[in-house]
Amino acid sequence: MLSAEAHPRDSLQRQYVYSVLSRRAGGISLGVNLNPDSICNWACAYCQVAREDKPKQRLEVDFERAAAEISEVLESVADGSLLKEPLHRGLPSELRHVVDLSFSGDGEPTTCPHFPALLEHVIAEKNRLELRLELVILSNNSMAHRPSVGAALRRLAEAGGRLHAKLDAGDEAGYLRVDRSAVPWQRTLGNLQLASRLAPLTLQTLICAVDGVYMGADELDSYIAILKGLLDEGGQIAKIDLHSVARRPPFDHVKGLPLSFLQSLAARIEDVEPRLAGLVYSSPGSDTYLLPGAAAHLEQKMV
Ligand code: SF4
Repeated sequence: MLSAEAHPRDSLQRQYVYSVLSRRAGGISLGVNLNPDSICNWACAYCQVAREDKPKQRLEVDFERAAAEISEVLESVADGSLLKEPLHRGLPSELRHVVDLSFSGDGEPTTCPHFPALLEHVIAEKNRLELRLELVILSNNSMAHRPSVGAALRRLAEAGGRLHAKLDAGDEAGYLRVDRSAVPWQRTLGNLQLASRLAPLTLQTLICAVDGVYMGADELDSYIAILKGLLDEGGQIAKIDLHSVARRPPFDHVKGLPLSFLQSLAARIEDVEPRLAGLVYSSPGSDTYLLPGAAAHLEQKMV
């Protein structure tokens, strides 16, 4: 049976399409994994993707197979057979429904050359089968400057889909600490600006401590300045989702921060930038992986 604690990519015994029980979605989320080699252009300190036993060379996505799997699984949603599979049968009734289909998986989906065509295929199949599930792309936004990706994101917005874009830091030091990417920070910010003008963004911000270092008052001010800049330049923000480490991080020196800390960040963001009032949400991570002794010092640190 599916569990929110693990997100195996072979849950549906298919190569590209899987199902997970998603806290974010509040039910079953179908995933399309366009990175079967697990290669990613970011190397987030909290990343859950197991890469140890993966080949180091690129594996091309088989477009025909991926499109066929998408069609099969969406048809099984439409005729109800997906929920009858043993994997989903025992789920609590409030979670036993398919909420969305997301392009996510083991790397950055927009790096796949077939991403625009497969997005188009999903939109066409969703319309053909008259499915009401939401369409989501979980992205680090590193490819939005490419015309083909920008056009696909525009198409996503036209189809009523949502882009969940990562912004885990407020400055370059934080970006290098948490996301550990060779993609330049300025490009990441520029792409965020581009994407926010195409459609309202849901910003995903994972707050964690790396070697005991985490977002402090100065970095938070810079984070708020980035949000303000997006809005000033005509970008739209639908929601900001502050969250922390929910499952075992890949390194022992990566820890979560308590919900009270996330809530203090959220309150400060809404206070400084009134255009974001009511749009900042905090969700708890796991108590198991919290930074030891964090709660006692955090409020002071943010003053
Ligand atoms: S962008 Fe996603 S897949 Fe890539 S390293 Fe970060 S969390 Fe992992």
